[in-house]
Amino acid sequence: MACPYAMQMHDALPEPTVDVLVAGAGLNGLTAALLLARAGATVAVADPSPAETLAHPDYDWRTTAVAQGAMRLLKDVGAWDAAWRDGAIRDIRIVDGASPLFLHYDGAALGEGDLGCIVPNASLRARLYAAAAAHPAIRLYLGTGIDRFESGAAAVDAGLADGRAIRARLLIGADGRNSPTRIAAGIPERTIDYKQTSIVATAAHERPHRGVALERFLPGGPFAVLPLPDAADRDAAPWPHRSSIVWTDAAPLAAHLLGLDRPDFDRELARRFGDHCGQVRSIGPIGAFPIKLVLALRMTGRRLALIGDAARAIHPIAGQGFNLGLRDSAELADAIGRQLALGLDPGAPDLLARYQAARLADAASLVAATDGVNRLFSTDFRPARHARRLGLAAVQATPPLKRLFMRHAMGLAGRAATLAGKTPV
Ligand SMILES: Cc1cc2nc3c(=O)[nH]c(=O)nc-3n(C[C@H](O)[C@H](O)[C@H](O)COP(=O)(O)OP(=O)(O)OC[C@H]3O[C@@H](n4cnc5c(N)ncnc54)[C@H](O)[C@@H]3O)c2cc1C
Repeated sequence: MACPYAMQMHDALPEPTVDVLVAGAGLNGLTAALLLARAGATVAVADPSPAETLAHPDYDWRTTAVAQGAMRLLKDVGAWDAAWRDGAIRDIRIVDGASPLFLHYDGAALGEGDLGCIVPNASLRARLYAAAAAHPAIRLYLGTGIDRFESGAAAVDAGLADGRAIRARLLIGADGRNSPTRIAAGIPERTIDYKQTSIVATAAHERPHRGVALERFLPGGPFAVLPLPDAADRDAAPWPHRSSIVWTDAAPLAAHLLGLDRPDFDRELARRFGDHCGQVRSIGPIGAFPIKLVLALRMTGRRLALIGDAARAIHPIAGQGFNLGLRDSAELADAIGRQLALGLDPGAPDLLARYQAARLADAASLVAATDGVNRLFSTDFRPARHARRLGLAAVQATPPLKRLFMRHAMGLAGRAATLAGKTPV
């Protein structure tokens, strides 16, 4: 039986169409929709990109290092593809330039299995899209972004670019680094332009990578080699083994590299790659991503929560941006699920305050770590070189510290572990 007060509220205010409206069907927006629906919410997702673009294999040819905690959450919402295990990370090696000193993480040593998987963004997004499209509690509005919104006492009213309107009790801004939602809500941000560009490419090489992810810190920025599955036509390909390259360098040098013809580009690639996988060359498209830190100074507004890159876009140095965003979604879905189970408002100010408090600490430590490590390593200044080599050697020689760092990278430390259904360390 409905309580009279609730009836009165119900009668006085129009019924919201959905519990939550998500602005953005990127990796974070779609994951949030699935986690929210699993928690019992009705969800609408709007994005200016049409469905064909979202599911197109060339839409985004980057790869994402999905940590173990994130893998579990993706499995829980039916968006994990077992074939992605072919890109499992079994071993991480961090090397400072040409120095023989390195930090070595071995998944088997931790007893947790693989450290994560390298997943092509296009297939991750296609999987998330298929799972969201099939979910009865999720409505997708694609090819039409959110044009405007107004947050009231009981609901938020949004207008889509195609003229349709959606009423929700909470709006989630998952609309990326330049989030129109964040800007419209007047939430200020801090930006640091690293004056670096990440060149993203696929490398074909002679010998297998054996699941090793390598990050080589060079003065212009980190050069990462990430294990991918072998070529589908393995027997026909002269060099059948594949790795994804995320090569961050000073913006002017990156522009020069991107202007080279393939043989010259491949020579530069091979110099940085090293010879541990034999001969190497690039295949397929080469992309460029200018790197900036964008940090929203608040993660919430009236009936509004920011997640993913809309809340903060970090340096790709540690491959953690999506993993961090996924923890925003998990935290929010967990809180909203409990709120709805009690018949309470999913856009209530106290829920949003708790969400912000819970997420700021996790995000702040990663923002500081990625920013600091990038600064410490992207220099040839001698004292910095010396300090970082001592740092790497100290972590390598201190098993509990090394184990803690590794669990952080896997998304299995602290609250992140609880969100992924594991025991925190
Ligand atoms: C080179 C590089 C390598 C990376 N590698 C890794 C990695 O290995 N591991 C990892 O965890 N992270 C990695 N990241 C970070 C990761 O890619 C991002 O954190 C993640 O893709 C951000 O997803 P998002 O959904 O928050 O934002 P986006 O992908 O930017 O999506 C935003 C969506 O919002 C939509 N939108 C825009 N305006 C509106 C509007 N008005 N209304 C509705 N929708 C709108 C856009 O169309 C888009 O679909 C990397 C980043 C870079 C640059």
